Amino acid sequence: MWHCDACDHKEACECYCRSAGVEKLLAGKIVVLDPGHGGPDSGGVNYGFQESDINLAVGLKLCKKLTRCGAKVVMTRTSDVSLTPVGSTLDDDLQARVDVAEKAGADVFVSLHVEDVPNINLQGIASYFPERRSYELACAIQAAVVEETCAVDTGVSPADFYVLVHNEMPAALIEMGYLSNPEEALYLVDNTYQNAIAEGIFKGIISYLQLGIPSQ
Ligand SMILES: [Zn+2]
Repeated sequence: MWHCDACDHKEACECYCRSAGVEKLLAGKIVVLDPGHGGPDSGGVNYGFQESDINLAVGLKLCKKLTRCGAKVVMTRTSDVSLTPVGSTLDDDLQARVDVAEKAGADVFVSLHVEDVPNINLQGIASYFPERRSYELACAIQAAVVEETCAVDTGVSPADFYVLVHNEMPAALIEMGYLSNPEEALYLVDNTYQNAIAEGIFKGIISYLQLGIPSQ
């Protein structure tokens, strides 16, 4: 089971929503969570693990935390499926995710992914935002996830990922680690580590909402 040797950080706190007016802050807020890939598109595959499964596992944990504290959560998928029929393009699938967020009238959109690259030494967590907006959301999530997981902080950057640039609401995409790194891969499939990531994103969303930035 994952735990950080440096700070002995293990289980994420389960009672956060009772503190500091979090339930009041989340009441009526609509959060769209987008576990990347799914169905025939597994995303990265390494050491017998699939990116799509990790994204979904963290997404479901995060959904539970947010819902328990009063937010309305809409998931782009809750099982191992594609959002579009067989034969659709990747852009169709990505647009379907944007459509879910737009239809829900999301206050916050968060897409969940993990990296899979040829260099097995790369590790850490990075957060991305669409150019010229949502920087604060990505920063808030990145800071909280790094704090919660003790993972390497690979920073916050603008990016032109489809789901970031084709929607209107505050949006961030989190690369939660490297499936290509043998050590990090084992963390990413660990229930406790997934819970720590989810707790970090949860706290990051709350920090962002506490800033009170208008969504347009
Ligand atoms: Zn991905």
